[in-house]
Amino acid sequence: MRDKVLQKIFPAFGTVNMVTLYGNFDPDIAEEVKERALQLHRRFSFFEPGSDIFRINQQAGIKPVAVHQDTFFVLFRALAYGKETQGAFDITSGPMDRLWRNSIRSAKIPLKSDIIECRRLIGLSDLILDKAAGTAFLRRKGQQIDLGGIAKGYAADEALRILKKYKVCNALVNFGGTVIAIGREQRIGVQSPYQKNGEPMADIVVQNKAVITSGTYERGFFLDGRRYHHIIDPRTGWPADSGLLSLTLVGDGAMALDALATGICVLGEKSGLPLLEKHGIEAVFISSSGEIKITCGLQEKFFLKSK
Ligand code: AMP
Ligand code: MG
Repeated sequence: MRDKVLQKIFPAFGTVNMVTLYGNFDPDIAEEVKERALQLHRRFSFFEPGSDIFRINQQAGIKPVAVHQDTFFVLFRALAYGKETQGAFDITSGPMDRLWRNSIRSAKIPLKSDIIECRRLIGLSDLILDKAAGTAFLRRKGQQIDLGGIAKGYAADEALRILKKYKVCNALVNFGGTVIAIGREQRIGVQSPYQKNGEPMADIVVQNKAVITSGTYERGFFLDGRRYHHIIDPRTGWPADSGLLSLTLVGDGAMALDALATGICVLGEKSGLPLLEKHGIEAVFISSSGEIKITCGLQEKFFLKSK
């Protein structure tokens, strides 16, 4: 008999999210995964008034804000990834993210004075976490946290935790390209840069692994032969220019991979490789010149589409 498949699709984190369970499972399990993701969306959202992140940003330079332990944990880990990437992954790049988001919308480069002003507001050392009090505080008015580069990873790890609790053996979590393949071997598509229809350029075969792609091609515009996009180099205030078009990471723990993928898109391949080796993470690097590089552990698992 063929497997039963149960699939739930829902919007959250500004993207489409999907959980697929293979086998004869209670639909309530998929519902619980969805509800948990929506709960995290409400806690982490930059835009929703009342979210932990919204309140921290609103009270920047004023007072510490009590946050849920999910938020505290993600903020705490995000600071650690910030350190590991020498500031390339920086969740305090919120003002800069907004500036470039508007710029991408209008396909116009922001004013230099605005870039300088936003650059001044970035600083991981300005985020004060008080574990005993369960509070987070941004020291200076105007500073803003944005968890866009890490939130889906944490949510995917939480989905995995729920699925394990119910002993779901075979499943696929896909939160806007942040993927965890559970149980049986599965083929995960690596999206072709610039191909809007989501057509994969290659497949990676994985088992019990997270697969995460960060791409500078995802959102942005071209002007005078240069690409301006949504992954910002917090050190310069300009879109990352590391020579990477896209980076796919394969490993354990979606949150770590999510943060490192965003950070290494900023750092580039050369500075990123030692970090990946340290964490036992495999990678596919696609450079702006179209070159594809695959780390040793993926050589037998990476299949380029012939088209
Ligand atoms: P991702 O798709 O995981 O690479 O995350 C991209 C999102 O992370 C952007 O849309 C911003 O919200 C945020 N972001 C952009 N640049 C950075 C950065 N250097 N560090 C942390 N978050 C960033
Ligand atoms: Mg990320």
